[in-house]
Amino acid sequence: MRKLLVAANWKMNGRLEQNRALLQSLKNNGLLELNHEVDVLIIPPACYLSQVSQELVGTQVKLGAQNICSWLQDGAFTGEMNAQMMVDLNVSHVLVGHSERRAFCAESDELVAEKTKACLVSGLVPLVCVGETLDEREQGLLQAVLSRQVLTVAKSLDEEALSKVVWAYEPVWAIGTGLTATPEQAQEVHAFIRSLLATVMGQVAADKLHILYGGSVKANNAVELFAQKDIDGGLIGGASLSASDFLGICNAAK
Ligand code: PEP
Repeated sequence: MRKLLVAANWKMNGRLEQNRALLQSLKNNGLLELNHEVDVLIIPPACYLSQVSQELVGTQVKLGAQNICSWLQDGAFTGEMNAQMMVDLNVSHVLVGHSERRAFCAESDELVAEKTKACLVSGLVPLVCVGETLDEREQGLLQAVLSRQVLTVAKSLDEEALSKVVWAYEPVWAIGTGLTATPEQAQEVHAFIRSLLATVMGQVAADKLHILYGGSVKANNAVELFAQKDIDGGLIGGASLSASDFLGICNAAK
């Protein structure tokens, strides 16, 4: 039985006061009581990691980062941060390969694999995002795209490392659009991703992996999505900026 994980990706949103109010409201309205049933992860912009880390002291809520640089150790890389620096900030998870970074920062499958490895070497859990665009889906390329994205990462890792990766299926056409994959569509793709991973690590190990769904998840569609056999929680963008919406989604994961 895989315990569900619900992750809040704040993206490039928030200010000190706004973050404080959001976290207070989450804590006052049940976030902390959820913890024995659902794992919760908050992923703020890097500049607010320390603030959120402090606000979460004494709770079991986990802290995630939205990005790290890839293979680089300390050095002359202006504007970059590496995995070891995230460890210093109490980060446990790092988003890797989010479609916005693939699209806006030209992150390739190979770079996603490098970043995944860099996280694992530092003891961080990479949360690797994969998903097709609408165009790719309509052209019948769904399986080819996902195979390329998943297997480039999976085949670059040994089995022990691969067993620590968390995956997120995020159809690009569903992110921030209000469109959501139906539970059946999402389940079909999650099962496909798990079957791909089983070809690399075997079925028993693949069955232990978490595969989250992301793409316009709201409290009113989360129950059905999370009830699917191969959906192990959600990666939540827009709805994670409202305490009541996010708690509604977390409660759906209980
Ligand atoms: C995301 O950013 O990963 C995401 C799923 O966004 P949204 O929930 O807003 O579609």
